[in-house]
Amino acid sequence: MLTKEEIEKYQSALEQERRLLVAEIENEKPADFGSEPDGELEEEADESEDFANKVAIKDTLKNRLSEIDMALARTKDGTYGVCEKCGKDIEKEILDIVPESNLCETCKKLVAE
Ligand SMILES: [Zn+2]
Repeated sequence: MLTKEEIEKYQSALEQERRLLVAEIENEKPADFGSEPDGELEEEADESEDFANKVAIKDTLKNRLSEIDMALARTKDGTYGVCEKCGKDIEKEILDIVPESNLCETCKKLVAE
């Protein structure tokens, strides 16, 4: 079980990560596409590739954001740090690296296989 202090520590790590993510998402606005002042026609192919990349990056960031939101909700309802699959405590080593983790090491490996 995590102590109250530990949960608070992960909670502030999550909140900090969330702020960074939101800022990153703001910077990845695909609406900027084509608005470069020195855009040459030959660069169009590159730019649409760039556009696709930006959309993909934004999707990844948004997925990450919703995982963080779910983890933050778990810190509030008291289920944070508990594996969603087997109900055991998630190793602190995992939470230290990925505070939004919802699976323990064993279940994570099972999912990956
Ligand atoms: Zn598990």
